[in-house]
Amino acid sequence: MTDKKCISKLLKLTGLRVTGITFKGREKALYLCVKPYKNGCRCPECGRRGKIKRTMPDARKWRDVCVCGWIVFFLYCPKEIVCDTHGRVQEEIPWADAFARITYRLEYLVLVYSQLMTQKAAAELLHMARSTFSDILHRTIHRVRDGHRIRALKSVGIDEVSYRKGHKYVTVVYDLERACVVWVGPGKDRDAIDTFFNEMLSDYQKKQIQWACCDMSETYIGAIKDHCPNAKLVLDRFHIAKALNAAMDDVRKEQWREATGTERSALKGLRWLLFKHPSKRTQQDKRILETLRKGNRRIHRACVLKDEFDIFWNYSAPWAAKRFLKRWCTAALKSRLEPIRKFVRTIKKHTDNIITFIESGGITNAISEGLNRIIRMVKNRASGFQSVQAFIDLIYLTVGDVDIPAQIPVRFRTL
Ligand SMILES: [Zn+2]
Repeated sequence: MTDKKCISKLLKLTGLRVTGITFKGREKALYLCVKPYKNGCRCPECGRRGKIKRTMPDARKWRDVCVCGWIVFFLYCPKEIVCDTHGRVQEEIPWADAFARITYRLEYLVLVYSQLMTQKAAAELLHMARSTFSDILHRTIHRVRDGHRIRALKSVGIDEVSYRKGHKYVTVVYDLERACVVWVGPGKDRDAIDTFFNEMLSDYQKKQIQWACCDMSETYIGAIKDHCPNAKLVLDRFHIAKALNAAMDDVRKEQWREATGTERSALKGLRWLLFKHPSKRTQQDKRILETLRKGNRRIHRACVLKDEFDIFWNYSAPWAAKRFLKRWCTAALKSRLEPIRKFVRTIKKHTDNIITFIESGGITNAISEGLNRIIRMVKNRASGFQSVQAFIDLIYLTVGDVDIPAQIPVRFRTL
């Protein structure tokens, strides 16, 4: 086996031939002169073989993966060809995108590593400057998603996610059936959501939407009513439960303010216990709640109401769920706990849109919540983004509707 063949086999260079090898010790780099093997001189537009017009005078350089600390570079002088349909063009480069300065293999590594770890760690593994790394990452994501259209959207979920302190938000639109993010845009006002409906969906697509899920904010509800004529609105379970929890906590805070020294010590450490789902309470928790029943009736009452409301989500018949909700609201109003009564008033205003949760078969909850958790993880891992766009790109990369690494040609997807 010759040196060139050996190197080619070692680096798994399929579809190209090595014509020269140079090691540059000072740069810790291995330069390979390469050329396409059997697949050269093809038009990048139509893939047909064209006649060679001339060879470019300067060699182009592509950065490839690292092997044992050596950075591999490809060198090649591309040819200008004449295609019957497309005229004079530069030939297609099989190992890299037309304007890229790195190979598909390295792009693939950049994408996969950024899904797994912080950009800092990934950049170090690939022996790259942090800025170069994020440059490549965002450019590749943009290239892959360029011209992408949303397809077959039937159930949408809309939610806001904060990405920086000081109320900086992005609006995230989920496809609840396929469990992925289809769109992310800066801001959380009506303009942001209008941009999505106007720019990304055709009128036909808007009519195809059957279920829409969002929180209780009037902005999102209004936008869905205006844009999706056939959609049934479902208020998100997660947000309703959160609102009820907040109401219960307000009762606790009220009692805490009114309590005197000894009473306060009895109420200490209660917060997280009350938030717990009934099925997750330990024996110890139950004992504490039992003493609370005698000690502070009002907090206990709020807690029981919160626990009871959870039954609602398990109904499968809408009429039964409606009956339950009506009874629960009556009981809650009688409790004379102002924060809970306020919650009841909100619920009553949106009853129809809460019952639709049962009709939809409970599509809303788990999916957007699960995706939200991943988005939060992405946010925490990056510990701050330089721009909104950087955050948006990473959401597309990790939970977007396009599997971005899978868009790199198969034979370059080696780890
Ligand atoms: Zn062509």
